[in-house]
Amino acid sequence: RQWARIGGLLFPNLRSLPMPPAMYIRRATKIVATLGPVSSDLEVLTRMISTGVNVVRFNFSHGSAQDHLARAEVVREASRRAGREVAIMADLQGPKIRVGKFAQGKVQLQEGASFTLDAARSTLGDQGGVGLDYKELPRDVRAGDVLLLNDGLIVLRVQRVLGEAVHTEVVVGGELSDNKGINKQGGGLTAPALTAKDMKDIETAIQLGADYVAVSFPKNATDMEMARQLCTVAAAGTGHRPGLIAKMERAEAIPHLEDILRVSDGIMVARGDLAVEVGNAAVPALQKKMIRMARQMDKLVITATQMMESMITNALPTRAEVSDVANAVLDGTDAVMLSAETAVGKYPLETVREMAHICAAAEAAEDIGADGNFAPRHLTRIDQSIALGALFTAHHLGAKAIVAMTDSGSTALWMSRHRIHIPIYALTPKIATQRKMALYRNVSPLLMDTSAERDRALQQAENHLRERGIVQPGDVYAITCGEPMGQPGGTNMLQICRVA
Ligand code: PGA
Ligand code: MN
Repeated sequence: RQWARIGGLLFPNLRSLPMPPAMYIRRATKIVATLGPVSSDLEVLTRMISTGVNVVRFNFSHGSAQDHLARAEVVREASRRAGREVAIMADLQGPKIRVGKFAQGKVQLQEGASFTLDAARSTLGDQGGVGLDYKELPRDVRAGDVLLLNDGLIVLRVQRVLGEAVHTEVVVGGELSDNKGINKQGGGLTAPALTAKDMKDIETAIQLGADYVAVSFPKNATDMEMARQLCTVAAAGTGHRPGLIAKMERAEAIPHLEDILRVSDGIMVARGDLAVEVGNAAVPALQKKMIRMARQMDKLVITATQMMESMITNALPTRAEVSDVANAVLDGTDAVMLSAETAVGKYPLETVREMAHICAAAEAAEDIGADGNFAPRHLTRIDQSIALGALFTAHHLGAKAIVAMTDSGSTALWMSRHRIHIPIYALTPKIATQRKMALYRNVSPLLMDTSAERDRALQQAENHLRERGIVQPGDVYAITCGEPMGQPGGTNMLQICRVA
């Protein structure tokens, strides 16, 4: 067996491992997989997509622009081979709120000891203190504040701030190594969400055709508007418009949730950093609130971090992880996300397969009876009324499928914000729309012939449903489309068909 060295650790080379057969499990909830050393090779990626990955996440904290561009080509080729389009999500690094480096690479902090974080320090760190990558820290904190280092494993209490030096006492000790992250309990670090590196990375993201751009550590809607502007400038002339995802991982962003949602296409419940800032115990309730509000506002939501954490090293998840994924599905998330599990884990394929199983089983148990009213709001738009009318009719007629002919994807998005067990097939002539819709819950995106007349397109849609065994003779399905075809926002027809 061959071994690969990844991040200083030895892993068995995937090619030498027996792999589970790729089998796509039908489900409504989508899977986002972070790519990394174990999931960048064409063969593995192809199998991951065949097994169920809908969105791949590029972590811009690692790798050069060249790496990302090359990897995007591998992803597109893999999805071609797997026969299914995936969306690419470029996840920006965001501000680096970190300590500097140590002379010995790390120190062991003891409870009760003094430890100084000094923005002016020019020497490497030691037992008594360390320099700061994040130079603003002395101005962001005051005596009594609690700082959480290394994902909250180390806790420091600020005693006083003298010039550039933050003097602290160690409350919870442990090993602190080079460049570990710093969070302030309750939030309040002023670092801007978009760094100079992020601005360059947005250009790379546009260049590689990213379908989504995720912004790390936004504080408010303005941060997201700024990201939107940068994307617009970078994409000028191309017509490309990636969806914007706000990573909810700062305490002070929570009160701005509604405003952030309004200017974004979706959010990520980024439970890693969020838990450090607001405390672990507050996160499950926040997750439910964020998912509910996102859906109410016709926005997307991804639930992320440590979902299948133990599968980084184990071939099976823990019971708690199974419940966590299932509960996110029952909360109504569009997608569940994998981080290190698929980036550096030993079992990327098995993790995706397990996750797909859990999603499918949770969805089967979901109660939709209470949600038969699909038009809770006052409607002013024709296209939106048709979308919700289709849901209502399909639900009460017992239709087997809904087909949405869509240019921008918005018809499918509106439909997907409601709990319904009828699969939505979204037919679009635009590949960018097809890829974007890969993230929408309960939506199967399909590319249709651009030249097709409406009647031929409708026939293609029915053939597709029949071939996949979604409908049989006698079954009813619903179709929404626009007349004339091919105009964004032009959906104005609902047709109910019975399969001959
Ligand atoms: P990260 O974001 O993995 O980029 O840190 C997710 C999180 O904080 O949960
Ligand atoms: Mn984070």
